[in-house]
Amino acid sequence: MRLLITGGAGFIGSHLAERALAHGAEVVILDNLAANYDPALKQANVELVRMRAARAGAGFRFVRGDVRNGELLDRLFARHRFTHVAHLAGLPGVRPSLAEPRRYLEANVAGTVAVFEAIRRHGAGVERVVVASSSSVYGAQPGPWREDLPPAPLSPYAASKAAAEQFARTYQRMLGIGVTCLRYFTVYGPRQRPDMAIARFTARALAGQPIPVFGDVHSRRDYTEVGDAVRGTWAALCEPGADFQVYNLGSGRPVTLKELIDALGRVLHRPIALDLQPPSPGDAPATWADITRARQRLGYHPRTALEEGLRRYVGWVRWHLPVGRGEGRAARGAGNHVRRG
Ligand code: NAD
Repeated sequence: MRLLITGGAGFIGSHLAERALAHGAEVVILDNLAANYDPALKQANVELVRMRAARAGAGFRFVRGDVRNGELLDRLFARHRFTHVAHLAGLPGVRPSLAEPRRYLEANVAGTVAVFEAIRRHGAGVERVVVASSSSVYGAQPGPWREDLPPAPLSPYAASKAAAEQFARTYQRMLGIGVTCLRYFTVYGPRQRPDMAIARFTARALAGQPIPVFGDVHSRRDYTEVGDAVRGTWAALCEPGADFQVYNLGSGRPVTLKELIDALGRVLHRPIALDLQPPSPGDAPATWADITRARQRLGYHPRTALEEGLRRYVGWVRWHLPVGRGEGRAARGAGNHVRRG
């Protein structure tokens, strides 16, 4: 397999790159190191992948660039003759999309079209393209959500993912190649984006600060450990055939915000104080994946229970992030301020 991973310097993409290299694939990462969070973290992800590739003796290249740069894509396709593409590049996050819908349209919709256009020009050998979509396309409909529910986006981010799926479906018909949209459900784990809830909660709890909770502690989320999400992504990439597929990649077991915070408190061995805030527009009250389809067709079986995944994530934070390393100092200093939530 010769695999192009767009957005491969990011959280999910860098884990996917490691998995692909371990399976003997040749990997090219194309990522513009966007400033939605510290590009140094993304650069560090690339260096880690580079190290893994060197150890495995596998082919690896990182190219810093934008997926909307057609000439750059043309050069990459001509040179590497990719057999598979994982298109993960994009701007994530519901809340920032409310303020900047145009940026999300350009990054997520125009970016997806640009990748398929390059495949149309140069991708004669491409067998399957996997496109990162999101659970947010389902909106506020009652769960569990099956893939055949019509999308009902509540935010520009969700709308951009639903639109990208429609382009993906259209290009599958036009090009006659395999195309799969993966609806990820709140993926978490080592190297996760610092703007995501579990990362923010952990950082604040380690610093002895209360956790801001928007809306209702009884709202429910379906959390997916990154190892499970990447196993599902790899299985989707390897699916044979020139068809169009959509899969939910979630745990299928949503938990309330309160259950999440209680579990995090147990893992951190400390009480966690809450700072209750009004609900944030664009957020779904609950997310809940029906994973029957992914289970049946991809053999997808999420293995990591939430508390075990949190333990793994917190272990990584303690080892790798300043907030984790400074924990002893922060906890001692903050002892008087910890409030029970
Ligand atoms: P991430 O921000 O860590 O990774 C995305 C990467 O894409 C970043 O490294 C960024 O620099 C790159 N990028 C952005 N715009 C680009 C462009 N125009 N050209 C080249 N590179 C560009 O995010 P992630 O959490 O790893 O998410 C990966 C994908 O999965 C995204 O498309 C996201 O919307 C989707 N997704 C993620 C989750 C989740 O819980 N993490 C849930 C649903 C969907």
